[in-house]
Amino acid sequence: MIFFKKKTKENELLKILPQTKGEYFPDYPLADLTWLKVGGNAEVLYLPQDEEDIIKFLKEKPHNVPYTILGGGSNVLIRDGGVPGVVIKLSDGHFNKFEVNQEKFEIKCEAGLYNAKIGKIAQENQIGGFEFLSTIPGKVGGTLRTNASCYGREMKDILVSATVIDGFGDKYEVDTADFQLSYRNSLFPKDWIITSVLLRGYKEDKDIIKNKIEEFQQKRKETQPIQEKTAGSAFKNPTGLKAWQLIEKAGCKNLKIGGAEVSDKHSNFLINNGKATAQDIEELGEKIIEKVKDTTGIELEWEIRRFGVKDAKHSSFGGNKR
Ligand SMILES: Cc1cc2nc3c(=O)[nH]c(=O)nc-3n(C[C@H](O)[C@H](O)[C@H](O)COP(=O)(O)OP(=O)(O)OC[C@H]3O[C@@H](n4cnc5c(N)ncnc54)[C@H](O)[C@@H]3O)c2cc1C
Repeated sequence: MIFFKKKTKENELLKILPQTKGEYFPDYPLADLTWLKVGGNAEVLYLPQDEEDIIKFLKEKPHNVPYTILGGGSNVLIRDGGVPGVVIKLSDGHFNKFEVNQEKFEIKCEAGLYNAKIGKIAQENQIGGFEFLSTIPGKVGGTLRTNASCYGREMKDILVSATVIDGFGDKYEVDTADFQLSYRNSLFPKDWIITSVLLRGYKEDKDIIKNKIEEFQQKRKETQPIQEKTAGSAFKNPTGLKAWQLIEKAGCKNLKIGGAEVSDKHSNFLINNGKATAQDIEELGEKIIEKVKDTTGIELEWEIRRFGVKDAKHSSFGGNKR
């Protein structure tokens, strides 16, 4: 559970945002809300309390105020100049309710629930098919948004439907097929907020589930730098190829820029060694893209989602000026 530090400082944006049940935090440092631990501030961070709160916020906020959604922060890079507008975070204290339908092997849960928790709920209720999810960092909303996958299964395989709110504050139930989920992607608009999901598995023995989760956890430990400050795979695998192999072929295995490094455990993972800025990490990624293109002719595509303003010096609100 994250405890959000209150700031007394006002900012201009705060004055024009609607009154809500949720809390606003001006100039809020986002680095600690992400796995990479880099980047600047949100102009305003907003922690909504429930769906109605989000709806009210979206219906009443001025149209020209942009917003960005943050889940567990395990797949994002916040740039050093921070994120203009409002960053909406589905916090740990809200959006964490769930219901289990044991007859249908279904779990309905709010989008702020951590994947690991959902995996545990599935295991306790003898629902199979969620084991892969247990080992993916982050929350289920971000996991649907990215159609995260591992060990042969993806979010698409367990999703029945989701509740979303669009940019006008209107709420919809969307079936799996309508999301058009594909490798790390979905077709729904960027500004839609997923508030809950309905997931379905199948009947499975508790011990089989437990063993599978342990096997996946072990594999991850052996092959990925899960204890490091990282955002998972930096680049998508081009069709039929592995990004890490292309990265190694291009001679980027030990590449470093400032405090950003290519992981020696997995070449598609970029790491903040504790001293990196967001710029170091992004530059390292861009260097890799360039070298892979020169060596193989293939252009890698970022998997990490990058948000905000690059230049901290010219940010009108709290940039990371290290
Ligand atoms: C060590 C490590 C290992 C990883 N392994 C894997 C892996 O095996 N497979 C894999 O696919 N990924 C992996 N990832 C990446 C990441 O864990 C997944 O993409 C995860 O599902 C992201 O969830 P999140 O809550 O952290 O989303 P965030 O990182 O917070 O956000 C990701 C995206 O989703 C959007 N978003 C977040 N919540 C919502 C919401 N409620 N509504 C709408 N949009 C939303 C954000 O705007 C952003 O675009 C790994 C990451 C790490 C750090």
